[in-house]
Amino acid sequence: MKEGIHPNYEQTTIRCACGEIIETGSTKKDVKVEICSKCHPFFTGKQKLVDTSGRVDKFNRKFGIVQK
Ligand SMILES: [Zn+2]
Repeated sequence: MKEGIHPNYEQTTIRCACGEIIETGSTKKDVKVEICSKCHPFFTGKQKLVDTSGRVDKFNRKFGIVQK
């Protein structure tokens, strides 16, 4: 990696709709997102867990897999 190859890559702030502020490096300045690692179900694991279990259940029934 040679320095100066990404001149626009610098410290930036990502603001989420939930209020979370993530400082990171990006070529974009002051990014706004609607979902982040703090509030996304995938990362919190709560809602995702429910969602996944429902899908797995459907999947298992479709293919005749019996869960213990
Ligand atoms: Zn968030």
